[in-house]
Amino acid sequence: MAMIKCKECGQDISNSAKTCPHCGVTRPAGQKSLLQKLASLVWGLVIFVIVITWLGSNDEETTNSGTGTAGTAAVTTPTYTKAQLDAVLSEVRSEPKVIAASWNNETTASLLASVVDDGTNRKGYAEYLCLVMAEHGVKGGIVRVMASHEKWKELGKAWCS
Ligand SMILES: [Zn+2]
Repeated sequence: MAMIKCKECGQDISNSAKTCPHCGVTRPAGQKSLLQKLASLVWGLVIFVIVITWLGSNDEETTNSGTGTAGTAAVTTPTYTKAQLDAVLSEVRSEPKVIAASWNNETTASLLASVVDDGTNRKGYAEYLCLVMAEHGVKGGIVRVMASHEKWKELGKAWCS
């Protein structure tokens, strides 16, 4: 049996004592003890429910983000081999009109080709470069024809099919 303090005189008494052997008060452990036990039981239940709910939602979140990542990865990774990308660059660079060429993004096959700006729109030329890319198996990329002497001036753009 456990020892507790009497609510009246503060002396150590047994928690099962019906009266205090020191001061004679009835229920020396106090009337609150049952209520307190009930309260802690309720708190235990509340915390249990919160933990279960949290674990459940956490599980769901993990599953959702898992499928989300897989879905995106499948859509946004048209990958090309280094050999294909290099072959495209060397052929584009050998075009008489092209002054310089580089990949803006190799994963999405986004090509930058600079030419002399003669004031005309080069969308048609960008589409032609798409065909050069397709010859090397690089499809679904983007070609941007830029002005060679004016930084970031775009003369034409094509989305390769
Ligand atoms: Zn007492």
